Amino acid sequence: MQQLIDFRSDTVTKPSPAMQEAMFKAKVGDDVFGEDPSVNELELLAAEMFGMESGLFCPSGTMTNQIAIKVHTQPGDEVICDKMSHIYQYEGGGIAFNSLCSSKLIDGDRGRIKAEQVLAAINPDDIHKPLSTLVSLENTANRGGGSCYNFTEIQKIKEVCLQNNLKFHLDGARLFNALVAKKETPKQYGEVFDSISICLSKGLGIPAGSVLLGKKDFIKKARRVRKVFGGGMRQAGFIAAAGIYALQNNIDRLAIDHQHTQAIANALLTKDFVGEMLPVETNIVICEIKGRFSAKEFSEKMKEKGILFFAISPTQIRMVLHLDITKEMVEKTIQAIKEL
Ligand SMILES: *Cc1c(COP(=O)(O)O)cnc(C)c1O
Repeated sequence: MQQLIDFRSDTVTKPSPAMQEAMFKAKVGDDVFGEDPSVNELELLAAEMFGMESGLFCPSGTMTNQIAIKVHTQPGDEVICDKMSHIYQYEGGGIAFNSLCSSKLIDGDRGRIKAEQVLAAINPDDIHKPLSTLVSLENTANRGGGSCYNFTEIQKIKEVCLQNNLKFHLDGARLFNALVAKKETPKQYGEVFDSISICLSKGLGIPAGSVLLGKKDFIKKARRVRKVFGGGMRQAGFIAAAGIYALQNNIDRLAIDHQHTQAIANALLTKDFVGEMLPVETNIVICEIKGRFSAKEFSEKMKEKGILFFAISPTQIRMVLHLDITKEMVEKTIQAIKEL
């Protein structure tokens, strides 16, 4: 059977033998009772990395984001975020469904919003208007093609939040890609955000799970909401152990994914059927397909060669690199692109 090369998402990774060994050896207990040593260790490790007080292990990044929004807001409040942000576009309407909040969508630059836009989006203190109480950023921004914020802009937005009594959340599903690409530290981020969601099931390669970080009292409330959302897991330490392994072993290697992404992007750019490409900053390529192929036809041609990715619109495809993509697979892909 032909070996598939899967660029559909960085969620498709399977645990490596070393990660599996860490999972098999995990010490576990009932985490709803707070008694799973591996979950407790993961939460502590992640919190310490970011210089934050506490962590909460959850089944998904959707859940960590939605819990954060729930804890930071009251029904009727408004959440300020980019128009393409995952919390708005890809979490099933959860901002309204779970938190009874409206969203003020900002027309950002490749998923990134600016302090002046946030300031302009805050509602006046007027009973006709929803109360603006939360700003949420996404770094890297998925629909921005893995674009990274400039940290100085994040600091400016933080100032706006402080001056206007807004909470500040980060959807850091791919934050480690940004940290590696921009040579930033987790602690920088821990200092400015009230809460951070990090995914361990994307670039870091664990089977499932995300960690929500914040102050002690925030995480105490978040733990209650996690139970209400049905996210209290029992012997979750088997998965948490994979998370510990990932935080200790799989961060620096993201640089390899970024090199692979660049190499594939360069090959695509030599083709007449490839149009505009979003700047490649991390592990995602989003580009326009035109002329000889529609986006769907191009993806089908490549699928015949065992190379998988999605057409994300009639004219665009997305490829996502990750730790199960080897150098040989990248070379095969480049060859396949060249042959078209
Ligand atoms: C993947 C992702 C999430 C979380 O998704 P889950 O599948 O629920 O873990 C959140 N934000 C962004 C930007 C993502 O790409």
